[in-house]
Amino acid sequence: MSYTEEVYERVVAQNPGEPEFHQAVKEVLDSLKVVIDRNEEKYRSLSILERLVEPERIISFRVPWVDDNGTVQVNKGYRVQFNSAIGPYKGGLRFHPTVNQSILKFLGFEQVFKNSLTGLPIGGGKGGSNFNPKGKSDREVMAFCQSFMTELCKYIGADTDVPAGDIGVGGREIGYLFGQYKRVRDLYEGVLTGKGLTYGGSLIRTEATGYGVVYILNELMKDHSDSLDGKTVVVTGSGNVAIYAVQKATQLGAKVVAMCDSNGYIYDPNGINLDVVKDIKEVKRGRIKEYADRVEGATYTEGVGIWNIKCDVYLPCATQNELDVDGVKTLVANGCKYIVEGANMPTTREATEYAMDNGILFLPGKAANAGGVATSALEMSQNSQRLSWTSDEVDAKLHQIMVDIYAKISDAAKRYDLTDNYVAGANIAGFEKVVDAMIAQGIV
Ligand code: NDP
Repeated sequence: MSYTEEVYERVVAQNPGEPEFHQAVKEVLDSLKVVIDRNEEKYRSLSILERLVEPERIISFRVPWVDDNGTVQVNKGYRVQFNSAIGPYKGGLRFHPTVNQSILKFLGFEQVFKNSLTGLPIGGGKGGSNFNPKGKSDREVMAFCQSFMTELCKYIGADTDVPAGDIGVGGREIGYLFGQYKRVRDLYEGVLTGKGLTYGGSLIRTEATGYGVVYILNELMKDHSDSLDGKTVVVTGSGNVAIYAVQKATQLGAKVVAMCDSNGYIYDPNGINLDVVKDIKEVKRGRIKEYADRVEGATYTEGVGIWNIKCDVYLPCATQNELDVDGVKTLVANGCKYIVEGANMPTTREATEYAMDNGILFLPGKAANAGGVATSALEMSQNSQRLSWTSDEVDAKLHQIMVDIYAKISDAAKRYDLTDNYVAGANIAGFEKVVDAMIAQGIV
């Protein structure tokens, strides 16, 4: 049995009931086999893989709070501090009823490689709670955030662990969490990112993930003697990542013809009018369906199937496992050439393999959506310097980071005779930096 297979079996045996974590480890170890095989003895002697798959620390705690009826509620709180070889732990907090240790370990493990690819000094972590902010009053959300932070603040800090938002944790929650940290620890420091602009947030953070997706797509296209100019693009979702991916793709000359939400999708052959989408989604918090009522020539289709729209470029920016193999078969049949993941794991494994085997150039989310966390790291730098950079400065840095990520993953794939396999390239390039640092720091 190979070293990677042995370690995978050990993970399954030692982490029972954690299917998402097993899946994430398997995907990474499968990609790393070519690297490990070249140096197996050295990696084995240092138990590198055993250490890589074991979080440095998991903090699990009780979060009691009082709801609007005066009833005491109790939620579970977690922080998985996965790997700090290259910098303080960094990764989001997710508040969602499905949150459990398996999901946070899977996300924390992925985050280690994503953060490494950014080239910035950030380790990997993830945290959250099974608290559901949907339908809660503002006071209830504040009460929960204050209780959550009262415990979490013992384990985080600007040079230790810097959480950010994720599903269910937006600007409002970050504000309440930051306020409580400052109050309890008496420290005004960059302990969280995604903060408001009046208290240490960074310009361009809102746009960063979507812009980054298109910047790296642009690099991929240039490398294949192609460009976005005149291309037809489909973007899934109509949230933060999707909106700013549409904005940047349009600026670079593409025509985005479709977007969706979880109810259905719109098709606008004249190119999406983003002002209308922003008004519906960011201002009125409505449904994408309303677009077809407001824009002449646009249509709305209820349900799934946005992949049926013919396009050159498909950017899944909604949610995990939204694109399955049947969807990818339709995209291939209609001549789609590029899939770049804005969301985390939006393409099933089978669909990814089908796409790559059938001539689609595919960039995984781990590399393509890293612009979000990279800009969070830029927020940390600004906080440390007590400075605020201009939009142009942050945008230029983000752009360069995405250019560099493309170069790294493309180069890693080529070095292992896997040209154009960016899934392997991302895992390998992310691994190399972290493992170099782990080896240099001894058995810790
Ligand atoms: P938002 O909540 O802002 O937007 C998500 C969008 O996807 C909404 O339009 C939502 O529609 C839609 N959606 C959700 N489920 C489905 C579905 N089953 N089918 C079709 N559409 C669906 O999230 P973000 O844009 O911030 O995040 C999107 C993805 O990107 C997530 O996977 C996230 O983890 C990832 N990501 C985000 C980063 C960021 O900086 N924001 C950074 C890195 C990754 P509806 O309104 O109906 O729910």
